[in-house]
Amino acid sequence: MAAEKINLLGLPRAELEQFVADRLGAKPFRARQLMKWIYKQGAHEFAAMTDLAKDFRAQLEEVACIKVPQIVTEQTAADGTRKWLLRMDEVQGIETVYIPEPDRGTLCISSQVGCAMDCTFCSTAQQGFNRNLSVAEIVGQVWLAQRELKGTRGDRAITNIVFMGMGEPLANYRNVVPAMRIFLDDLSYELSRRRVTLSTSGLVPQIYKLAEECNVALAVSLHAPNDALRNELVPINRKHPIEELLAACWHYLEKQNGRSITFEYVMLDGVNDAPEHARQLARLLRGRPAKLNLIPFNPFPGTRYKRSSVPAILRFRDILNDMGIIVTIRRTRGDDIDAACGQLAGRVNDRTLVRLGTKLVNPSVSA
Ligand code: SAH
Repeated sequence: MAAEKINLLGLPRAELEQFVADRLGAKPFRARQLMKWIYKQGAHEFAAMTDLAKDFRAQLEEVACIKVPQIVTEQTAADGTRKWLLRMDEVQGIETVYIPEPDRGTLCISSQVGCAMDCTFCSTAQQGFNRNLSVAEIVGQVWLAQRELKGTRGDRAITNIVFMGMGEPLANYRNVVPAMRIFLDDLSYELSRRRVTLSTSGLVPQIYKLAEECNVALAVSLHAPNDALRNELVPINRKHPIEELLAACWHYLEKQNGRSITFEYVMLDGVNDAPEHARQLARLLRGRPAKLNLIPFNPFPGTRYKRSSVPAILRFRDILNDMGIIVTIRRTRGDDIDAACGQLAGRVNDRTLVRLGTKLVNPSVSA
């Protein structure tokens, strides 16, 4: 039986160079050509790579492939936000969301099927943890979105990538870091390190590790200003309490020469939105290179929480502002198609499966 073909999608530059040298006896510049074809041109067939010699293409066909994820459904919200459900296996999918704004286009990607962090206000948590995504499955989300968005905004549709979809990216460190290296690579998507944001619920040891290994923007899901409340909302806090988490954040910035860290704070009515919470929060972040992003809670079926009222959110912001903290309020995007923060469930439901069988919605997507 022939050996399984290696998927070139998701191989970082050094590994691709190694691969073309070891398996095909080719020079490193061949790997660079391949990268440009795959990421800049969006090619997924070697036949399309016209500046590669025919023999070399034939050799590639034998041992390699470019395997991209399959789209199950695509939805567009009233505000232009787009959401793709990508098939990972028979019952599970993951979701990728594109958020167009006047000055940027943000792609929100997933790092795991499900999530093990168990944050009480997040719908992904309800499905539990299924598995980590591979590097190819992470990078594949960007590859697909770029193809689907071709022609929009002069082919510069994606200016920012955020790990704010399903999963805890630092719990899939091994695959998330190589994927980020590809996003930053000049031969690929060429994003600056400030335009790739990793959002974490607070895996402290991995923040220290990341500080040594990869330079991207960090966002931290804080959600509570004291350990008692955070233990309840973000259970990983029982292992890595706020003080430890903040120390890791400041270390990260120092090591990376970064400007600031964004702290995310979901606004839950009557839970974490009182003026006293705002004051506690300001005391934690005051004088630090921190920005605070308030996220109005996005409801999902079965949740016990409600979104804070607009006056409560504004009052919360004002208290923090008065105490010297820079605060932004995240606009809710795409909630009419359940594409907003915390609404991603990735369910490939039974009816969809029956209807689709093994066929794809979009036949042009290769398996
Ligand atoms: N695991 C990563 C990425 C999660 S999603 C993390 O925890 O940071 C990105 C952001 O959306 C996180 O700040 C997350 O806490 C927030 N979020 C989750 N559920 C939400 C909901 N129902 N409404 C609003 N924000 C939510």
